[in-house]
Amino acid sequence: MSSDSSLSHYVITSACVDVKDGVCTTVCPVDCIYTHPEAEQYVIHPDECIDCGSCEMVCPVSAIFRLEDVPPGEQTFIAKNRDFFTDYPDYAAHHAASWK
Ligand code: SF4
Ligand code: SF4
Repeated sequence: MSSDSSLSHYVITSACVDVKDGVCTTVCPVDCIYTHPEAEQYVIHPDECIDCGSCEMVCPVSAIFRLEDVPPGEQTFIAKNRDFFTDYPDYAAHHAASWK
């Protein structure tokens, strides 16, 4: 699996916490937005995101930012999005996509 984080991607930040309505997952063309029953928010897989921006436009609480635009107070969520995939190793079992 690629771990090239030099490519830009989008990041989900604190406003998603406890909202977690999944609206962004309905517009992602590569289905790279994930969550887990025990997670408090959705996250974006940094290596799968193709940087299209569709999710950012539909989030009702403006939780989604391009990597370069993540506000100073939200920087920890960059690692939080990536760490999700090791914190919840069974994440794929909870992914809505059936074609992956
Ligand atoms: S920017 Fe595009 S590819 Fe990346 S998570 Fe959002 S909708 Fe998916
Ligand atoms: S649309 Fe926004 S609030 Fe809803 S799950 Fe996605 S990032 Fe979270």
